[in-house]
Amino acid sequence: MKIKNIMIVFMAISLLLTGCNGTAKAQADTQAEDTDAEANEVKEASREIFAMDTYMTLTAYGDNAEQAVEEAASEIERLDALLSTGDENSEILAINENGGGELSADTAVLIERSIEIYEKTQGAFNIAVYPIMEAWGFTTQEYKVPSEQTLQELLKLTDASKINYDDEAHTVSFEQEGMKIDLGGIAKGYTSNRVMDIFREWDIDSGMVNLGGNVQVLGEKTDGTQWRVAIQSPDDSGDYLGVLSTQDKAVITSGGYERYFEEDGVIYHHIIDPVTGYPAENGLTSVTIVSADGTMADGLSTSLFVMGKEQAIAFWRENSDEFDTILLADDGSLYVTEGIADRFTSDIDFQIIEK
Ligand code: ADP
Ligand code: MG
Repeated sequence: MKIKNIMIVFMAISLLLTGCNGTAKAQADTQAEDTDAEANEVKEASREIFAMDTYMTLTAYGDNAEQAVEEAASEIERLDALLSTGDENSEILAINENGGGELSADTAVLIERSIEIYEKTQGAFNIAVYPIMEAWGFTTQEYKVPSEQTLQELLKLTDASKINYDDEAHTVSFEQEGMKIDLGGIAKGYTSNRVMDIFREWDIDSGMVNLGGNVQVLGEKTDGTQWRVAIQSPDDSGDYLGVLSTQDKAVITSGGYERYFEEDGVIYHHIIDPVTGYPAENGLTSVTIVSADGTMADGLSTSLFVMGKEQAIAFWRENSDEFDTILLADDGSLYVTEGIADRFTSDIDFQIIEK
């Protein structure tokens, strides 16, 4: 084989730029210079789509990049239609209307994982909070502050231990009438996992997906260096909390800034504390989870946000082999767990959490 003089300059930076309305922008700058026109450089394919209420970017490198990105985009659209509570033909909507039903393979996995995370987080992650989401208007964007009495009534419908999932028949039923579920806290992580699966099936060994601030990367960049994922600051400054160098990981962030409304000077956001029925205010403004398992990372980003700093750190210490985390407290202090501390850079002085 002829040795070619190839110079490939490749940069890919994935930036999490998440707006307050739940939208986000990813940026993957690529630049290839080839001194030999016939050189067989790495093929790149990239696609931007709007699904699951957010902007998404998919990028793959390799011979089958085009097909991989195409199939992944179709998969995202399929999952969106299946899982969205806002889609009148979605499986979740039907289950909520009928108090249960038969589940397709994806929904079965998601409900099973959601129950597992519910138990593991002692209820911080709770897909049965949907009636509360409705009461606050997060499902229709007709926002309102519900009365304390309304919340107390609705909290009776949010006992996730009353979601009966049959893992053999792949059915679910709710023990109580009026219960409803919402996979919004976990669906995007599952989706980014699926994208990685599809990329692998097409023999892609370098790629990334950004689903509205939820990033998952496959392998390293094509130049053999790690992906650099910037984590957005929860204030509107457009700054970053820092940048994480990583490979083969999901980097998923939850923050109250992603979807909220303001009434009488108070901000109400979309992550509900299942104990109170109010938006979780437990001292954290942003939680990033880093894990090879996107589904778990998404579920835990919501969970640790609900838990607050002390409990989140204790939870990490018990499960440090499964994930790492970056926590921003509302006093501005930043905490990074030891598994990723040497790969995280920030202008803010951060404290390393050790086991
Ligand atoms: P985002 O979807 O903005 O990235 P999250 O992953 O934190 O943020 O998910 C927030 C969504 O999860 C809410 O919009 C709602 O659908 C759902 N949700 C809210 N509170 C909880 C909770 N305590 N447990 C599970 N899901 C929740
Ligand atoms: Mg989540």
